Amino acid sequence: MEGWQEAINKWLGAMLGPGTLLYAVTLGGEFLAAIVRGLIVSITLTVVAWISGWPIPVGIITILVALGPLAASLLCLLCPPLMAPIVGRWWEISSGGRAPEDDERDAFGRAIAQLAQADPNVKAPRHWFVAEDAGQNAAAYASSLRVDRGLLEGPYAAAVIAHELGHLRSSDARLSSALNMLLLAPMDTPAIQPLRSLAFRGLFWIASGQAALWLTGNAWEMYWRSREYAADEYAAGLGVGTTLARALELDALPHEQPVARMRFSRASHPYTKPRIAKLVALSARQAKDSGREGES
Ligand SMILES: [Zn+2]
Repeated sequence: MEGWQEAINKWLGAMLGPGTLLYAVTLGGEFLAAIVRGLIVSITLTVVAWISGWPIPVGIITILVALGPLAASLLCLLCPPLMAPIVGRWWEISSGGRAPEDDERDAFGRAIAQLAQADPNVKAPRHWFVAEDAGQNAAAYASSLRVDRGLLEGPYAAAVIAHELGHLRSSDARLSSALNMLLLAPMDTPAIQPLRSLAFRGLFWIASGQAALWLTGNAWEMYWRSREYAADEYAAGLGVGTTLARALELDALPHEQPVARMRFSRASHPYTKPRIAKLVALSARQAKDSGREGES
């Protein structure tokens, strides 16, 4: 009984927050997009059926195209076991990922075992794959993890994987997959010129689902940046804070560029230097605390 309550509390803890609120606002915008999309589809199909005489099931197709993306998105969030394996596999295929080789599986296993020493609840995600990249990066999406080949060959695997596990255990990875589902087709923001086709292009921009995502884009990126600190904190809690700071110093810091109005920008990650400073401070505090525990 307690196990259930714990699971529900954990789920609520992950779900209730600014991310869910932002998702609800985005979903509202996407519902308007669905109405526009439905109108375009039903008018087009009705005209085609009328001219050709074909028995086109206009109603069913309209509902599927209009509300399908919204339903898939909600399922990603509310029923991850149903959607996440499909979404994760598709992510692997579409991003050119591959299954790990034996030595990579061993390196990954060693990283997870190291983290599990700090917290026995740490588990490897059910689906992970290798990106053919010499970098030291990893990423979490739906319930899957992508790991650079280079990361598994180097000394930072446990630290970087710990950061990604931070995204996987919270609602971050699920939310990002739910957001992606809302987009029927990626579209550029329409230019004002030529003016005579602006209404037409604008309508398709709204119908694709891109407009609502564009309008909420800044708020989302502000939220994602805050989540980077949360994932860092989780990694530091597993005792790999200083190693993660070192990995960021070597892999991310050299590529930093100034971002105009950073706090309100669309940068997906915060500046690396404050992240490193926070990780170092967190690790120092932990070392002090554990020293005190040792004394008492
Ligand atoms: Zn991250």
